[in-house]
Amino acid sequence: MSSRTPDVKSARLSREEIDRNFADLHPPLKRPEALIEADRCYFCFDAPCTTACPTGIDIPAFIQKIRSDNIRGSAHTILEENIMGGMCARVCPTEVLCEEACVRNTHEDKPVEIGLLQRYSTDPILEAGTQLFERAPSTGKRVAVVGGGPAGLSCAHRLSMLGHEVVVFSRDEKPGGLNEYGIAAYKTVDDFAQAEVEYILGIGGIELQNGVAVGDDVTMDSLRDEFDAVFVGVGLGAVNALGLDHESMSGVENAIEYIADLRQSSDRTELPVGQRIVVVGGGMTAIDIAVQSKRLGAQRVDIVYRRGPEQMGASEFEQQLAQTNGITIHHWASPKQLIGDGHVTGIEFERTALDESGKLITTGETVTFFADVVFKAIGQRLDDDSVRLNIATERGRIVVDSEQRTSLENVWAGGDCALGGDDLTVSAVQHGKVAAISIDRHLQESTAWPT
Ligand SMILES: Cc1cc2nc3c(=O)[nH]c(=O)nc-3n(C[C@H](O)[C@H](O)[C@H](O)COP(=O)(O)OP(=O)(O)OC[C@H]3O[C@@H](n4cnc5c(N)ncnc54)[C@H](O)[C@@H]3O)c2cc1C
Ligand code: SF4
Repeated sequence: MSSRTPDVKSARLSREEIDRNFADLHPPLKRPEALIEADRCYFCFDAPCTTACPTGIDIPAFIQKIRSDNIRGSAHTILEENIMGGMCARVCPTEVLCEEACVRNTHEDKPVEIGLLQRYSTDPILEAGTQLFERAPSTGKRVAVVGGGPAGLSCAHRLSMLGHEVVVFSRDEKPGGLNEYGIAAYKTVDDFAQAEVEYILGIGGIELQNGVAVGDDVTMDSLRDEFDAVFVGVGLGAVNALGLDHESMSGVENAIEYIADLRQSSDRTELPVGQRIVVVGGGMTAIDIAVQSKRLGAQRVDIVYRRGPEQMGASEFEQQLAQTNGITIHHWASPKQLIGDGHVTGIEFERTALDESGKLITTGETVTFFADVVFKAIGQRLDDDSVRLNIATERGRIVVDSEQRTSLENVWAGGDCALGGDDLTVSAVQHGKVAAISIDRHLQESTAWPT
């Protein structure tokens, strides 16, 4: 197998083909379609869809406003709970959140298309830059937000609404976090991530410092001295390794780094693409790298996951998306050895199973795949070495209470870096909002006159 010549090249497809392949995954609804869809809602009194939404958007209320053509009011209902309602309308796995809970499932087997309706309401408001929220009078308090992803920006926006001054420090050159660098390109077309950031900043009172890494360029201690409170939303900056020999061999790549390159590329025909690709992992990142590789022109893409379909982090919809893109998902196999001389040419897996106690074991049976590129998509972890937070962590994440307070006084955290989340954009937004409300209460209490 090592004698096979690796086949990795750019321009496997024409620019037109690639543009077509990366068009909007769920095109927006037109007005007649939106009105028909809105009419399907029963406006349930105890709306289970709202309970299932991590940000608690009043879903029947915003759908009702669509029916009366009150788009501004509808968007207000969405954005007051979730300032990234536009992005979440595109990327939320609604099939396991609001739409799974929709009572229409039981009556007709098809939920109301809540995600598409949410997009219908929020898109015109963002496109027109219509600010729906105002800043409260200045409190004179200053809050540092570390991280410009969904958690940080949501926190910053709510703090600004409450009258505080906010400075967002973000290591990346562009704000948005994984909205800008991670989400699959066909879910967020036309530079939507930056348009949304601009909308969020439009409220005022938020200063953005890009390319500033806390831990390297400024310390947490200096932020705690300089600001009245600090919110940490640094995401998960370190990538898990396979733990195999020769992992630094050419052709063995981190999926999220390739996706970031893809998202930042102005000409996708220039991206190098393997003819045969093997993806190791079972989450959203695994599906995204597989589907995007296929859409860039890879001939064969296999995903290999060490457990069964039910344990995959990727939702059923995502798994189907992979399959309809011609990708094969193999279960119950874990990587054993990388094959290649300088550049990877294959990867050997060992079959896995569960023993009587439910523990994952290898069976000794092996299976080998040819590969020009092997993508690692087995999760990320907190990059504590570089951030140097000196904060209590558990299982590699920052320990927080129900208000997102950490073990450090005057420091809150949220999003992927915090313990207890589910690694979704919408949950990061909720963490940021909850933290901002808690910070505000804390700042008010600390300035209240003693009675
Ligand atoms: C490939 C991929 C696809 C995904 N697809 C989906 C999807 O379809 N739907 C969905 O709901 N979720 C998806 N997710 C998950 C979602 O993107 C995350 O849950 C969400 O972005 C978390 O937000 P965050 O603000 O916690 O962190 P991030 O978005 O990771 O943002 C972290 C921010 O912190 C900054 N930062 C890091 N270290 C430092 C430092 N030392 N100093 C200063 N700033 C720092 C970064 O520059 C960045 O701005 C996906 C994730 C990945 C990896
Ligand atoms: S559960 Fe479905 S039908 Fe009921 S309010 Fe929510 S979207 Fe409408």
